[in-house]
Amino acid sequence: MLQFELNVRQKALQAKVRDFAIREILPAVWHYEDKDEIPLFLLQRAFDLGFMNSGIPRKYGGKGLGLLEGSILTEEIAAVCPGVATSLFDNSLGMEPLLLSENEPLKKKILPLLVRQFKRICFATSEPTMGSDVAGMKCKAEKRGNDYILNGTKYWITNAGVADYMTVFATIDPEKQHAGIGAFLVEKEWEGVSVGKPIPKLGQRCSNTAALNFKNVRVPKGNIIAEPGKGFVLAMKTFSRTRPIIGAFAVGAARSAMEYAIDYAKKRSVFGTKIANFEAIQFKLAEMYQKVETARLLVWKGAWEADKGIDPTISASIAKFYATEAAMEVVNEALQICGGYGYTRMFPIEKLLRDIRLFSIYEGTSEVQRLIVSGHVLNGYKPVMPPLEDLPLIRGIDLNDPSARETSAWRCRMCGHIHYGEEPPGECPYCFFPATAFKKVWPRALVLVGV
Ligand SMILES: Cc1cc2nc3c(=O)[nH]c(=O)nc-3n(C[C@H](O)[C@H](O)[C@H](O)COP(=O)(O)OP(=O)(O)OC[C@H]3O[C@@H](n4cnc5c(N)ncnc54)[C@H](O)[C@@H]3O)c2cc1C
Repeated sequence: MLQFELNVRQKALQAKVRDFAIREILPAVWHYEDKDEIPLFLLQRAFDLGFMNSGIPRKYGGKGLGLLEGSILTEEIAAVCPGVATSLFDNSLGMEPLLLSENEPLKKKILPLLVRQFKRICFATSEPTMGSDVAGMKCKAEKRGNDYILNGTKYWITNAGVADYMTVFATIDPEKQHAGIGAFLVEKEWEGVSVGKPIPKLGQRCSNTAALNFKNVRVPKGNIIAEPGKGFVLAMKTFSRTRPIIGAFAVGAARSAMEYAIDYAKKRSVFGTKIANFEAIQFKLAEMYQKVETARLLVWKGAWEADKGIDPTISASIAKFYATEAAMEVVNEALQICGGYGYTRMFPIEKLLRDIRLFSIYEGTSEVQRLIVSGHVLNGYKPVMPPLEDLPLIRGIDLNDPSARETSAWRCRMCGHIHYGEEPPGECPYCFFPATAFKKVWPRALVLVGV
């Protein structure tokens, strides 16, 4: 049975995180945004209140919450600051490969520690010369005895500057592409690990982004998350579970912008009336709300699939590129409704606009999501309708007439012309293709899909 309502526990979680976001995060972020600095104390507060690392299973001491609960949490935090949301939930991205791995001793060592202590774990696939093309990474992992030696640079790494642990993807040989990639858990304090200066960005200035550099960093056998050859699939599985969360970021930010716009539209008077009384503004608001609601449904579907153990890859991609692009439209329209004020730094919308621009870039660009979904549509999707050449697009026979089965219909596979008669015509009167272009479409046994 379909169920669109949150349960009591989920509603309580939503109320609790909403309260924290509005009371504690919202007033603090503008100052840190100006300083281009991550407000680490807010992450610590979120950790103390149990909003970080919510997906760690109970057997490691965690709350064992699902992705649906994760989506609820992220929507509320992103509604007040997408940058804080990125950094706050980066632990979920950083630990996901470990959660998915088979390295039980490493899980038992790290996951309970993340439950007990306020530690950050970041995720590193991207490099200065590679982002979308994960298989093209160059960071080297060279086998030395049972251990691996890492050499190379990871770029764009969220929370790199504040992370204690890093999940690093590296290759034994760049020539091997997908087949050479492994994943390793690296500790910040290890010899040879260094962090670049924070990268200055258009938005998300409350989130730290920097490079990681590895010079002869020894990773002991016990810290291998995925053996070389298994890392690429692990990275993709990770993204399938984290992309709905990026969609949830977008829903939260779009929702806020919409609410600011509604508030402004009800109060701003022009030409002797409130702008909310103009149909042009009402239609904008209607479409904004439609996009927020649609995006949330897609996000929750992806999260629900993951929680049910269904492969969420396609739903996650659809949710990510729909929600993140819809958010751009919603926030842009919200700024428009607020007129000149919307463009100022004294109103909240310009920050949202700058912050959310990132959503359709990281964790797989919108173009990459379209590649994934179009690959599915072209190669995996099972159609319900018959192929065009079998389509009984019949107009010359009344199927209500009992003698209908005595007449045959032939469809030209090139132009679609239907010929009625015992035999196909010598050639098609429309496109002049020969008789061999015709396929009998009536009478024939109908195969009903799914029956
Ligand atoms: C603020 C920030 C935080 C980030 N955090 C992290 C992090 O924590 N960890 C991490 O590993 N990475 C992180 N990233 C990196 C991010 O995932 C990459 O930027 C992203 O994957 C795109 O890679 P790229 O920038 O190298 O662009 P490229 O891959 O060079 O792509 C450039 C353009 O070409 C398009 N393109 C690429 N391939 C195709 C194709 N086949 N068909 C059509 N178009 C294509 C892309 O969509 C894009 O528009 C972060 C990035 C930013 C900006």
